[in-house]
Amino acid sequence: MDSITVRDKEFVPYLTEAQIQQRIAELAAELEVDYAGKNPLFIGVLNGSFMFVADLMKNLSIDCEIAFIRLSSYTGMESTGSVKQVLGLQDNVFGRHIVLLEDIVDSGLTMEQTLVFFEERGPKSIEISTLLFKPESLEKDLSLKYVGFEIPEKFVVGYGLDYDGHGRNLKDIYQLKEA
Ligand code: 5GP
Repeated sequence: MDSITVRDKEFVPYLTEAQIQQRIAELAAELEVDYAGKNPLFIGVLNGSFMFVADLMKNLSIDCEIAFIRLSSYTGMESTGSVKQVLGLQDNVFGRHIVLLEDIVDSGLTMEQTLVFFEERGPKSIEISTLLFKPESLEKDLSLKYVGFEIPEKFVVGYGLDYDGHGRNLKDIYQLKEA
């Protein structure tokens, strides 16, 4: 694999498509055991999670449902730039086993706020699965049950993750090249 340029930045190869697919198959095997017979509702957080959700679902043969949400910052006076609202949820969460699917957990703020939204709606259980996790950046007390890869505090792109809107279509994951 070669280095690539996305917009104005150079990125070096970090996780290959094969490594990603291997790890997703392992996560799916865990989920199959834990959620057999529970008809879980998997909820992908757009945009970054779309490839992860698709590949994870192709590895699952248990009965389940899949939905997507999008988060947006509140507009208006109370906006701090970091408070998110959840858009697009049509499914009833009450009494369901929910698994949130994220591309990456960094500070954990996004997932903490998302969890509050779902917990208020009375799920039977709720867990988080994230493909990537930056443990050194975590500021919130989050329990992440299904983690693909723990990665260092460096910006990554590819496999759904963007830099300035670009790079989501890359099959592999790349890391920002040190200056
Ligand atoms: P958190 O709220 O956990 O700090 O941030 C989560 C969000 O920040 C992710 O959903 C993602 O959009 C963005 N993010 C954090 N780290 C990275 C990264 O290394 N690369 C990309 N492309 N996005 C990131």
